[in-house]
Amino acid sequence: MSRHRSSEEYDAIIIGAGIGGLVCGCYLAKAGMKVLICEQHHKPGGYCTSFKRKGFTFDAAPHCFGSYREDGIMRKILNDLGVDSKLNIIRANPSDIIITPDFKVSFSNDLEQTIDEFQNNFPNERNLRKFFYLLLDTDPQSFSKLRRITFRELLDQYFVDEKLKSILSLPFFGIGGLPSFLISAFVGAKLFSEFLLDGGYYPIGGMQALPDALAEKFKEFGGEIHLSTLVKKIAIKENKVTGVVLQNKEYIPAKYVISNCDARQTYLKLIGKEKLPKEFYEKLNNMIPSFSNFLIYIGLASSFKPKFNPGSVLYYFTTYSIENIYSSIKNGNFKNYCGLLLRVSHDKSTIFAGIPVIYKSKKYWKNYKSLLLETFIEKMKICTSEDLLEHIVHKEAATPLTLEKYTLNYKGASFGWSSIPSQFGIPEFRRPSFIQNLYLTGHWTTFGVGISGTAYIGCDTAKILLRKGKMKSHG
Ligand SMILES: Cc1cc2nc3c(=O)[nH]c(=O)nc-3n(C[C@H](O)[C@H](O)[C@H](O)COP(=O)(O)OP(=O)(O)OC[C@H]3O[C@@H](n4cnc5c(N)ncnc54)[C@H](O)[C@@H]3O)c2cc1C
Repeated sequence: MSRHRSSEEYDAIIIGAGIGGLVCGCYLAKAGMKVLICEQHHKPGGYCTSFKRKGFTFDAAPHCFGSYREDGIMRKILNDLGVDSKLNIIRANPSDIIITPDFKVSFSNDLEQTIDEFQNNFPNERNLRKFFYLLLDTDPQSFSKLRRITFRELLDQYFVDEKLKSILSLPFFGIGGLPSFLISAFVGAKLFSEFLLDGGYYPIGGMQALPDALAEKFKEFGGEIHLSTLVKKIAIKENKVTGVVLQNKEYIPAKYVISNCDARQTYLKLIGKEKLPKEFYEKLNNMIPSFSNFLIYIGLASSFKPKFNPGSVLYYFTTYSIENIYSSIKNGNFKNYCGLLLRVSHDKSTIFAGIPVIYKSKKYWKNYKSLLLETFIEKMKICTSEDLLEHIVHKEAATPLTLEKYTLNYKGASFGWSSIPSQFGIPEFRRPSFIQNLYLTGHWTTFGVGISGTAYIGCDTAKILLRKGKMKSHG
């Protein structure tokens, strides 16, 4: 990998090699731009990475992705970039299973089968088909109506059974950490259709295979990627970006700077409070991040036999009370959290589990990390195997501090900003009017979350920039 020469100017520098940064970089480099990605970690991927421990490969955070159906955005992007050919993508069937004290409902790869399963469990409900097809409706008119109401209000319009309404709300605690009475119906419907009705896609080899393939493609398109390279400042002159300054004080000039890292870091540290209009600064300070996660990684003996389909994501809950679940997260009462998001890997060698949590101090985690690890392993027995403990070869946990340390995401927030209606789609966060040639991309832009959401934003950011028509190939 050739290092930078100071006199060189890039068309664009992207700060961060998360999925958003990599996809954006690929589109720009493919269009002939001279692009550099600076990534502070020693591997690409951001949250979407894998690590090895005691012979096991663990996915650090995301464990599958969505929107890879025939007309799905993720398929379109990977196709456009020619990354598909570098990956072997499989899909779990069912992709997701919700387990509660009275029900077990699965999201099959075949939508009609999913609807039938819900109908068999809730024979008196008349609107199940209508509801699922509404979630998949891409007509902007029917979808825009959803902006005005919460997901809970949408459920109330379609269903009577309170248990069904809870079951359809529980997965949000795994994909964003919000209760249905707070999440906008628009975001909820999008999350539902992209994560549950078209979810469960997995690259063989581990989630790391996805950013690795994107990084490889980026270099094939002529892009440069510098790993273990922390950006310390975005250089600005007369309200226009001029480049970036690295930790070693090296200045690298560029016409455009695209930040894939967290919005607070971008604006408050890399740019500086003094360069922000007061109103913008206040807005930024009042924004609420999404919950983080307490994560459990378990390595298993080959004799382990799981109860449910390996590869499927399990949402296991012992209560239907969305209010109680939410308040136990919000109040930091994690030990009493009544749920688990869990996935036994396709080859049955590992278990990944996540519990939404708020940010706590180092001291807190020092005291409670082991206790929570053991408490939740005990809870896992019922949805994995009663003799789980006998098959555990390795176990470890990660806290919000771990997530923050490896990605610099503010408070280890799993999905950028919280997806409450007031925090959705704020253009200024993505393309500030007060600094020219600065763009943000990724899950802190308020325009989308998750792997497919950030891939979409990465692609869209590149398109906006290319449309400006100012970029001419250097080669
Ligand atoms: C526990 C957990 C589980 C999840 N599960 C799923 C799932 O199953 N499916 C799904 O679709 N989504 C899931 N998500 C969400 C998904 O991982 C994220 O929404 C997505 O990966 C965000 O990508 P990004 O490109 O916006 O940012 P990030 O992945 O955060 O990447 C930002 C990059 O910027 C780098 N960086 C930051 N500051 C600097 C700097 N100053 N200089 C240089 N580099 C810098 C970071 O090191 C990082 O690589 C999960 C998230 C978590 C935490």
